[in-house]
Formats: sequence, structure tokens, C-alpha cells
Amino acid sequence: MSQLVSRALFDQVMVPNYNPQQFIPVRGHNSRVWDQQDKEYIDFAGGIAVSALGHTHPSLITALKNQAEKLWHLSNTCTNEPALRLALKLCNASFAEKIFFCNSGAEANEAAFKLARKYAYDNFGEHKHEIIAFEQAFHGRTLFTVSVGGQPKYRKGFEPVPAGISHVPFNDIEALKAAISEKTCAVVMEPIQGEGGIIPAKPGFLEQVRALCDQHNALLVLDEIQTGVGRTGKLYAYMHSNIEPDILTSAKALGGGFPIAAMLTTDKCAQSFGFGTHGSTYGGNPLACAVAEALLDEVNQPELLELVTQKSQLFFAELEKINQKHHIFKALRGKGLLIGAELIEPWHGKAAKFLAQAKDQGLMMLVAGPNVLRFAPSLIIPDEDIKLGMQRLEQAIDQLIKIGPENC
Ligand SMILES: *Cc1c(COP(=O)(O)O)cnc(C)c1O
Repeated sequence: MSQLVSRALFDQVMVPNYNPQQFIPVRGHNSRVWDQQDKEYIDFAGGIAVSALGHTHPSLITALKNQAEKLWHLSNTCTNEPALRLALKLCNASFAEKIFFCNSGAEANEAAFKLARKYAYDNFGEHKHEIIAFEQAFHGRTLFTVSVGGQPKYRKGFEPVPAGISHVPFNDIEALKAAISEKTCAVVMEPIQGEGGIIPAKPGFLEQVRALCDQHNALLVLDEIQTGVGRTGKLYAYMHSNIEPDILTSAKALGGGFPIAAMLTTDKCAQSFGFGTHGSTYGGNPLACAVAEALLDEVNQPELLELVTQKSQLFFAELEKINQKHHIFKALRGKGLLIGAELIEPWHGKAAKFLAQAKDQGLMMLVAGPNVLRFAPSLIIPDEDIKLGMQRLEQAIDQLIKIGPENC
């Protein structure tokens, strides 16, 4: 059967909004993946910062199997035990006092932006509806989230988009100061811009944004869809600072590969999502929540989070080593196991070429825009897999340098 399924079939039967790699993975274990031909890959991509515990983690399999034999779905006309246990654990582990579950990052952001508007409407009036976000930000692909996102290319052709949204340069507090007003209901930011090129907020920036929000009665919405669930070495990246958001969105790694997302907020804000104001059929699905609960139990442990920081150091050291030999990276950025390597100028625009070469060498990785290689592996990737993956990356780089930027 598997032989009938090839990459060519994608072009035949799938909407062409993706351009997947030429190989088709069929199984995975920890940080390794095998394709239809049984070729092995080291996984530095982690399904785009999703597979926080790698592939086929026993705790997640057990949680999924146990729940699969009990109860799959009820809808929100009933609540369920896994959803309530997970919500309690998220509250205990963070600033949050109330949780809303949904199925994807974009939906969590959609809920967050709607809540920010509704909260301002309830407490201050209709005029306070403006959302300020940052250039290059990525918040998802629904119409509202591409509108809040700071990459115009994702909005092009889909206009008219929702009104009352503006963008200012990231890490520029003066620009935000000039833009924010009594009409602002929320400022939305990623602690580290992910899709935008792995750009961390400057030290102190998050605190400055929080202070401006407080001055103008605006909510601070943190999009931690990529940075959350242990990725940066803390459960959520805001925990590296001494501020708290009003709303935080979490998805990607939350289910470790099972679709689930959450919006975390305070008691005070949650009041504006009263009965009947918002909803999702699958949100809080028992299977998804059971898996996420097991994942959170594993990830939210001091030992595991400390390990992320250690593995991060090894990752950066290995990338430095490659760079000393090949001088291909202009900058290495990121935190924990969310790492970006910006290519030097001659290679700008060519990041995607590295994916195909890496594939040939048996390595899965990511890009963040046209100039940056991105790494978001499992938080428990074995050190030996980091080293082996880096050997393969170096071989791929070697090949590309031989071809030269002008020829590829
Ligand atoms: C991936 C991502 C999203 C969108 O999540 P989906 O699950 O694809 O809808 C939103 N914000 C950030 C920061 C992301 O990295």
C-alpha cells in the first residue's frame, strides 16, 4: 500500500498550499525518523517545535491508549476529567487562573484577540478596540490572525481584513510608545519571534511593553505558541522575566503531536467570555487533554527544564564549531532549543536550499524566513543525536559551499 503513496500523489490530490520535501516519513522514535525506503533522519525540526518529547514517547502513548479505551468525545455540553485536570495543572504552573481549550495556535490567538476586544468593550467601551502587534510577527493563518501578524505577504489577496490593527517595529519601545493610546485594547507579542527569524525580545523589552500596557489599560497578550511548554528552558518564556501577561496562548508542543491549544488568562479577563460568547466543538477534547496532561507532567519538571538549557549549550557550541570552519553563519540566536542561525549575506534567500541538502544527508531541520536556519528539536534529544545531526548538517553545508550560493 505504502508503495502506491508517493510524493507525486501530493501534487495530484492536495491543495498546493504546501511544498513538502520529497521523502515521506513513515515512522519515528525519539529524535529519529525513517522514510518509506527506511532511510534514517535525525530530527532537528520536531514537527516545528511540536514534538517536545520526540516521537513515540511511552508516557504519551500510554495516556492516549488509556483514554482511547474510555472516552473520545462529548462536546462542551459536558465537561470531562482530562480537560479539568489539565486546566488545573496549567493554572498551578503559571500566572493563569482560567483556561480556554481549542485545537490550534491560530484558534488560541483568535480567542485571545476576541477576548481582548470584548474585555475592553465591557470595561471601557467600544472605542477601545485597537490591537498593536509587531512587524514580522506570526500569529496564525485565520483572517484575524494574519491581520494581527506582521507579515503583509500572508494577508495579500485576502483583503478586506479586520480593521483596528497596527504594527510597529519589534524591539522598538519608542515606536510602541508613539502608537499606543487610550484606544489600544491589547499589545500582542512573541517573546522570541519564531517564523520572523528567531528574533528574541531585547533584555528589558518585555517589561517595558508591560509598563506601557499598564499605563494605557491595555492587555498584554503573549503568543507563546512556539516558545512555550519548556522550549526556552522555562515552562513559558515570560518566566525568564519578572512580568506576567494578561493572556497567553499555547499550542504546538502542548500536545506533543496531538492537536490541542490553550488560551491562559486571569479571572478578571475571563469574565468577558461569559456563557455563549465563544466556543469550539473539539476544544477540550478528552483524548487531546489526556495526552497534553501526560506531556505537561513530563516537561514541567526542574530536571527536564535544566536539561533543555544544557542541550542548548551543546547545540550552540556545535553550531559555533561548524561556523569556525565554514564561516556560513552571520549570527546565532535564540534560547533553549529554539535556535536560529542566520546565513551570511551571499546566502541570503537560500535557506530553503539547506533543507534539501540536509535531507540527502539524513537530517530534518527548518527555516525561519529566507535567511535563517531554524532548529526546534525534541527537548529530550539525546546528546549523541545532536552530535550526529551536526555532522550531517556540516556535510550538507560542505556540499552547498562546493556548489556556491550563485549556483543554487
Ligand atoms: C505556529 C504558530 C502559530 C499558529 O499555530 P497553528 O497551530 O499553526 O495555527 C501562531 N503563533 C506562533 C508564534 C506560532 O509559532
